[in-house]
Amino acid sequence: MRVLLVEDEERLAELLRNGLAEEGFAVDVALNGRDGLWLAGENRYDAIVLDVLLPLMNGYEVCRRLRDGGDWTPILMLTAKDGEYDEVEALDNGADDYLCKPFSYAVLLARLRALVRRGGRERPVAITVDDLVVDPAGLRCRRGDTEIALTPKEFAVLHALARRAGEVVSKAELLEQAWDFAYNGDPSIVEVYISALRRKIDTPFGRNSLVTVRGAGYRLDVRGTPGNARENPKRETTPERTRGR
Ligand code: CA
Repeated sequence: MRVLLVEDEERLAELLRNGLAEEGFAVDVALNGRDGLWLAGENRYDAIVLDVLLPLMNGYEVCRRLRDGGDWTPILMLTAKDGEYDEVEALDNGADDYLCKPFSYAVLLARLRALVRRGGRERPVAITVDDLVVDPAGLRCRRGDTEIALTPKEFAVLHALARRAGEVVSKAELLEQAWDFAYNGDPSIVEVYISALRRKIDTPFGRNSLVTVRGAGYRLDVRGTPGNARENPKRETTPERTRGR
């Protein structure tokens, strides 16, 4: 059984490597996120033990990039309880399980074995919103029979919206899911991607499924009927949000 350990604390990495080797695991160690991502792409592992706080690329990002690239190797995330990072985030980013530091080696071993036994999780299923199909396993999108070419970032934004089709997703949530949880650049970058998406998934098809909900965010409409925004521009604003302004 082959395990990739991505951990920048060299002493801990060494201890874990030796311990796991004694249990019969073959262990590769990466001391930063970028090397970890590279190794994961080069080799097949039965599981990845991934620290969150890593130089060059944090564990969430490594995890998300693997998942975005269709790699479903089981991941055990090592989170630090410092208030800034949490377990939910680990799972949201595609980890299968998590352990809070400091942890006991026996618990890590048990969790790791359970993960390996369970194997990689199911590839995520494609999401269908009307005739729009968003397939995260293949990073593909189509409207009806027409394949739509999206950049990875456009795809990530659309996927975040499609997962919650019919609901309003805030700009902050989109930033968090499609960029980095620590992204602190200009939030208006989201608008740029929304516009690009509209030009690809709506305009050519005479649709208006990607709706701006003023002051709240964006919504991918379940019923993106042809041209209905132009006929009724007010529909973009929800009554709850405008009341009292
Ligand atoms: Ca660390």
